[in-house]
Amino acid sequence: MENKIKAYNSILELVGNTPLVKLNRITKGFTGNFYAKVEAFNPGHSSKDRIAMHIIEEAERKGILTEGSTIIETTSGNTGFSIAMVSIIKGYKCILAVSSKSSKDKIDMLRSMGATVYVCPAHVSADDPRSYYEVAKRLHRETSGSIYINQYFNELNMHAHYESTGPEIWEQTGGQITHFVACSGTGGTISGTAKYLKEQNPDVKVIGVDAFGSVLKKYHETREFDVNEIYPYRIEGLGKNLIPSATDFDVIDKFIKVTDSESAHTAREIAKTEGIFAGYTSGAVMQALKQLNEENEFGPDDNVVVIFPDHGSRYMSKVYSDQWMEDQGFFDTKEVGEIQKVQY
Ligand code: PMP
Repeated sequence: MENKIKAYNSILELVGNTPLVKLNRITKGFTGNFYAKVEAFNPGHSSKDRIAMHIIEEAERKGILTEGSTIIETTSGNTGFSIAMVSIIKGYKCILAVSSKSSKDKIDMLRSMGATVYVCPAHVSADDPRSYYEVAKRLHRETSGSIYINQYFNELNMHAHYESTGPEIWEQTGGQITHFVACSGTGGTISGTAKYLKEQNPDVKVIGVDAFGSVLKKYHETREFDVNEIYPYRIEGLGKNLIPSATDFDVIDKFIKVTDSESAHTAREIAKTEGIFAGYTSGAVMQALKQLNEENEFGPDDNVVVIFPDHGSRYMSKVYSDQWMEDQGFFDTKEVGEIQKVQY
């Protein structure tokens, strides 16, 4: 009998092809047209599904991974979730070393997806044996037949976005995109997408979003690693205390920095104005748009695309908790201008 069932063969077939959504209200009074690529529509609820699929399938093509192999990674949570999801479907073991800065929700979620999770201290240097990099490297050495995804130093990270995010945005905008604005963590999203877009039209302007407390913006401007730029900050997944080789700084035109507090308030504002429940870095990229608009970056006919990397449900005990906001001092009106707690 002919099979008439319209079903996906597995959840993995839903990775990518995320929607581009016009921003209508949060951009009121802005000059230009603004669109968000909402990566929470991936089955693992973030853009990291793309790199997990791409890197694991490349390793399979090269014959490195076989049934029952172990996949190891350092992760702020999202990449871990995506690797855990792909590992379940494809029959691999998944070990994740995460920063203690990651939310409890994220860590619990990784364990629920069958991963073994090591929680490592956030504020030690990258070469400290307790850092999540060193823990992952050690586990990789000690586990035979394992692969280490190493997203900050793996060029396949960038390549995943060059092959999927870039072409999707070009197609969804009918080639009319003028600006691409994205958060930079590993830099895979911004550089892979930017490389593809600039190959189609070298005039597309690419702007990276960095955190205060991170070295990326200064490095882009001076090509020097300045330790004085480094101090603790709250936003997870954005900025870095090292220079990732997964970032191609040459395809990024400039960086802009955003604060923890304003990014948190802006994430909450996206939910209230656009009905899109997005993560902390979506607030960061939207905050960057506000600052860029103030600086008259955009013209009336410009089409600006931003990435909303993940879903708000991962931040219930952080950005979307009034108590957490209060504890951070983010309701201090001196810091956040006219935004009042009562709004929320
Ligand atoms: N937002 C979130 C929530 C992330 O987890 C990450 C990845 N660390 C990013 C943004 C930045 O993306 P990329 O690593 O591709 O630069």
